[in-house]
Amino acid sequence: MLRYVTTNPGKVREAEEYLGDAVAQLEFDYAEVQAHDLEPIAARGAREAYRHAGEPVIVDDAGLFVRGLDGFPGPYSAYAEDTLGVEAVRRLVHRELDDRRAEFRCVLAYCDGEPFDASPDPVDRGDRVAAAAAGADSDPASDADGEGTESLPVKLFAGVVRGEVVEARGDGGFGYDPIFEYDGSTFAEMGPGEKNAISHRGRALEKFGEWYQERSD
Ligand code: IMP
Repeated sequence: MLRYVTTNPGKVREAEEYLGDAVAQLEFDYAEVQAHDLEPIAARGAREAYRHAGEPVIVDDAGLFVRGLDGFPGPYSAYAEDTLGVEAVRRLVHRELDDRRAEFRCVLAYCDGEPFDASPDPVDRGDRVAAAAAGADSDPASDADGEGTESLPVKLFAGVVRGEVVEARGDGGFGYDPIFEYDGSTFAEMGPGEKNAISHRGRALEKFGEWYQERSD
C-alpha cells in the first residue's frame, strides 16, 4: 500500500482523484527542516516517513510563493497560516504590492527504500540540508541523517501554478485556496476535479502517477 504522508485530509482527497484507492493517508508529522526550497524539506520528510512506515511513502510539501515578497511565505506557508492566518497574508500583499502575482508550488517526494533509474525528474540521493546542519561534509553517500543508516534515494516530482492573490472568495479547498485566483476563479471556488486539473499538486500528481504506473508494470 502506498502511504500519502500528511496530517492534511484536503491533500489526500486531491491525491485520491489521481491515485484512487492505491493510496491511503498516513498521519505522521515528520520534522520539517528549514530550507529555502521545498525539495530538501520533502526529501528529508520522505526518508523519515519511510523509516517510520516501512512501506512506500509520498510526502507532499507545498507553499504559496508571492513574487513581490521574494517568495514569502513559500516554505514558511504553514507557519504563516498558523501564526498570522491566511487573511493577514492577503492583507500584507494588498497593502505592500500593486503586483500581486503569486504561485503555488508542490513537491512530491517518493521513497520505497529502492534506488531509481535515471529519469527526467530529479532524484535526491543525499540529505544535504541535514548534512549542512550537522556540519557533515556534502558527500551524498554519507550518513547525513545521523540515524545510523545510509541516505535513501528519494524521487521528486514538482508542480507549479501561477495566479494572483485576491480578496477571499469561495468555501471549498483548504489553506490559501480562498485568496488564490487562477483564470478568474479562486481555488476555493473550484470543485476538487477542477482544481486538480490545473493545480500545483495536480500537476505533480500527474507526473508521479505516470511514473508509478510504469514502475509497477
Ligand atoms: P504543507 O505542505 O502541509 O507544509 O503546507 C504548507 C502550507 O501551504 C499550509 O499552510 C497549507 O495549508 C498550504 N497549502 C498547501 N497546499 C495548498 C493548496 O493546495 N491550497 C492552499 N493552501 C495550500
